[in-house]
Amino acid sequence: MSAPLPWQTSQWEAVSGARAAGRLHHALLAAGPPGVGKADFLAALCAWLLCETPRGEEPCGECRGCRQHAAGSHPDCIVLSPDYQNRPVLGAYPGQRCQYEPRKKPSSVINVDQVRELGERLHASAHYGGFKLALLLPADALNTAAANALLKLLEEPPDNTLFLLLSQRLAHLPATVRSRCQLLRFSTPPLAQAHAVLSRSGPEADLALDLAGGAPLRAQGLLGQDIGAVWKAVGSGLDALLGDKADPLRLSREWLKLPQEALDAALYGWLRHALRRAVGATSGDATAHAPSVARLRTFGHELDDFLRLREHPLVKELALQRLLYPLWAGAGSAT
Ligand SMILES: [Zn+2]
Repeated sequence: MSAPLPWQTSQWEAVSGARAAGRLHHALLAAGPPGVGKADFLAALCAWLLCETPRGEEPCGECRGCRQHAAGSHPDCIVLSPDYQNRPVLGAYPGQRCQYEPRKKPSSVINVDQVRELGERLHASAHYGGFKLALLLPADALNTAAANALLKLLEEPPDNTLFLLLSQRLAHLPATVRSRCQLLRFSTPPLAQAHAVLSRSGPEADLALDLAGGAPLRAQGLLGQDIGAVWKAVGSGLDALLGDKADPLRLSREWLKLPQEALDAALYGWLRHALRRAVGATSGDATAHAPSVARLRTFGHELDDFLRLREHPLVKELALQRLLYPLWAGAGSAT
């Protein structure tokens, strides 16, 4: 088998070569930006490692290990993640269920109890006598106590255990944990490879890739959310706001109906383009109401705040209104 995605060949060869040589590191850390296929890579690796009768580097697809992995119920493949309701954005690990009950209260962290329970399960022998896999999806979600507990497991790993950590914000992971892992870096692929995995081509695919920062799976998600229409709505809405033809209250009500990921990407994309125009990097598509760099910076700070605040459904509309105030031409006359 080769890597699940064409730009992951070197990472796959590093792991498969180490396995063939009997030198597989007990902890692999797949790190890189969202949307470049880290979860797909780990899923393919799990499928191969759990297969009882692999054909070379290919899982057979028929044995007990393959069937249970495909059903998301392999007893030696343990997934730690924040609960389902508030899982950080990342490619879902295909075909795999979290083996913990969803928590009653939403949470965005992996806590120490989860890691302790993982330790107990890993110290028991493997159900099927092969690898025991522990996935942390994502490892960035470990809180401090959980990271310390994991560190102990990484320092003295139970037999036949392989830890698979996924991270899209490597700096958030304690250096002590990072240093115990073999780092597999994933980055955005060359444009031609990125385009090859998208379901569409043409201007909308170009736009999706641009707004996704070149990350193909993220771009694919944006295409599924009709990014072309959202991009137009955000562009014309902000133009109207800057020209005092719309106000934050009306716009925020309209935009609440837009798909969230596409709205975020369009807002950041608009800011990036506007900043480039404001510092004179591009000149062709200047709008009548070009805001200053200082105003765009304020909008940028508000945008970061908005992404944090809107997690709470009750404040989402207010957060969106607040975001739009710095660009509203009518703001001066209202105060
Ligand atoms: Zn198999």
